[in-house]
Amino acid sequence: MTTSAHEGGCLCGGLRYRIKDEGLALTACHCTDCQRSGGAAFGMSLLLLKSSAEVVKGTPRTFTKIFEEDGRLKHNKFCGECGVRIWTEFSKFPQIVNVKPGTLDDTSWLEPVAHIWVRSKQPWVSIPEGALQFETQPADFGVVLKAFAEQRAAQQR
Ligand SMILES: [Zn+2]
Ligand SMILES: [Zn+2]
Repeated sequence: MTTSAHEGGCLCGGLRYRIKDEGLALTACHCTDCQRSGGAAFGMSLLLLKSSAEVVKGTPRTFTKIFEEDGRLKHNKFCGECGVRIWTEFSKFPQIVNVKPGTLDDTSWLEPVAHIWVRSKQPWVSIPEGALQFETQPADFGVVLKAFAEQRAAQQR
């Protein structure tokens, strides 16, 4: 992976970040929250250890969403100038960040290994053959991590 694949930022350039590795998993999420927050048919999530992602320019603003079911928190980090979200942090998994991978400078290596919350996907979206599919949140995320590790190993060959 080239250096540019490790760097990303917002639309106005005020916020820049770096990732130290390719992360743990890449998923496409078809939940209605992702549809709304991205203004799109689905959102993409690149899960990384928090220690692998750092802001190198600017200071993100935070929008915190509280889930009424269980009180857990989701902290969306975004540029206060142009509004682009670069990643999300979670109260439930404080060691993980969910980078919005479309903000990377090089997105050519991004292919989700799993599609989640498929039950609310737009009817015209078809899931590529070979990708894992889950109606809601995967009960066992281990299979997603394994599929991503295999995909990364195959691309580096
Ligand atoms: Zn910006
Ligand atoms: Zn979602």
